[in-house]
Amino acid sequence: MINGKKSNQKRPKAIKQNLNVFELINDIKNNYYDAIVVGSGPGGSTVARDLARGGKKVILLEHGKDHRDKWYYGTFIGPFIYTDKHGHLKSKEGVPIVRPMMTGGATNMFASAASGPPSWWLSKTGVDIESEINETIDELQIAALPEKYIGAASQRIGEAGRDLGMDWQSQKKFINPQRCYSKFDCGDKCMFGCKCGGKWTANDYMDQAIQAGVTVITECTVDKVIVDDEVATGVQGTIKGKNFLLNAKIVIVSAGGIGTPRILQNSGIYNAGDALGVDTTFVVYGVIKGKGNTGDPPMTMSYCDYENGLMYSTLTQPFGLFSLIQYYKGWNHLYKIPKFPHMLGIMVKIKEDIKGYVAPDGEISMPLLHEDHLRANIGYQVCKNILLKAGCDPNSIFWNPPRGTHPCATVRIGHHLDSNLKTVDFDNLYVSDASTFPAPLVRPPTLTIIGLSKRLAKHLIKTKLNT
Ligand SMILES: Cc1cc2nc3c(=O)[nH]c(=O)nc-3n(C[C@H](O)[C@H](O)[C@H](O)COP(=O)(O)OP(=O)(O)OC[C@H]3O[C@@H](n4cnc5c(N)ncnc54)[C@H](O)[C@@H]3O)c2cc1C
Repeated sequence: MINGKKSNQKRPKAIKQNLNVFELINDIKNNYYDAIVVGSGPGGSTVARDLARGGKKVILLEHGKDHRDKWYYGTFIGPFIYTDKHGHLKSKEGVPIVRPMMTGGATNMFASAASGPPSWWLSKTGVDIESEINETIDELQIAALPEKYIGAASQRIGEAGRDLGMDWQSQKKFINPQRCYSKFDCGDKCMFGCKCGGKWTANDYMDQAIQAGVTVITECTVDKVIVDDEVATGVQGTIKGKNFLLNAKIVIVSAGGIGTPRILQNSGIYNAGDALGVDTTFVVYGVIKGKGNTGDPPMTMSYCDYENGLMYSTLTQPFGLFSLIQYYKGWNHLYKIPKFPHMLGIMVKIKEDIKGYVAPDGEISMPLLHEDHLRANIGYQVCKNILLKAGCDPNSIFWNPPRGTHPCATVRIGHHLDSNLKTVDFDNLYVSDASTFPAPLVRPPTLTIIGLSKRLAKHLIKTKLNT
């Protein structure tokens, strides 16, 4: 699947296709594993792959299915099938939260922007992941897109921002047009799921994990970690609705910012989920005469305003989602839908302190505080100035309301975890995903999650699993 040629190679299949669920449970129980990894997002797939490449016997348990070969993958319909609550997950305060649940986790729907950890990372965590980040950049050839793919309208936004004195730069991406197995087609709709192969997702690492010998079980929900005398010894859950218990030397929970604290609470770590960050995000739009950035790949030009805690990037929501949001806003917003091809869109992420919670009964609290509103107002005004400078009609500027796309900081390094990502409560129990962040990063988090997970795999191979 390299250099524009469709590969004849078949994707490795996740589950053992020839076994029914009872045989499958028997089969996995009768095997011995060094490590159980829960969740196949960037956290889980990375650590599973690297442990297996280091010669360890690993089983990866994933709640969702692998939808990549289905007709609806990468279409407007897809997210209704593979996101939590079919796209209708909200905090109790009403902030929508996008939580994809399938193999590869949230990277199926990510905007593929790549940034390393923020400047405060090392001083706040004491976890040095610089070499793992550099290794990943080389491995995945993370770089800004060639100019011809950035999109003229997105470049126009960047130029308008620079004219106003902001340091807009082309954004490094997890997209590599060389990787495509069909025509490079990473427009805004790749946020429903990438059909052309240009966008890296954690499925790629999961496939490599299977090739390295990892057993992957899909439709498998882990409820709790089994703990004996403060040492984790396995997990308990269901596979296709049937109960199972599984033992291993160590357990790594990578079920994401919302899934991980729920599993840990059920396992006796009652302060897991005592806070939550989501990198609250909104999009400001304006209408121009020519073509908007609606067909451009998302997040190709960005600007970070560290002083005010705001990140800006070029992005329009895909047409189906954009239309649905106007419908939910009310009939008097429907007139915007036919103007979609002429929309210029800028996404804004606002810096938040950790707040809210993930409760054991599943409730999620994510309030928008006074300071969040202030930051949002600054962000809106800055976008408005840029859009006007870029030539938008002054009467056409509006925003699509905030949503959370990066659940994190629920099981934090320095609080629930030590600097090797081991839980402070129990031995042999580790966490490797966005939960571990001490605070929301206000930037794309995936590269940091991969760096952390690579480091964890190296640490475990050298220490706990060195025999
Ligand atoms: C719309 C959108 C745009 C984004 N854009 C970007 C971007 O441009 N750049 C960037 O870096 N990041 C982006 N992100 C964020 C990024 O995708 C996530 O931060 C990242 O995927 C989190 O990785 P994770 O391993 O922590 O968890 P996840 O990716 O959420 O993976 C967790 C996995 O665990 C599984 N799971 C949950 N509970 C259980 C259980 N009980 N048992 C078994 N399995 C379970 C889930 O099904 C899921 O597959 C975006 C996210 C969204 C939603």
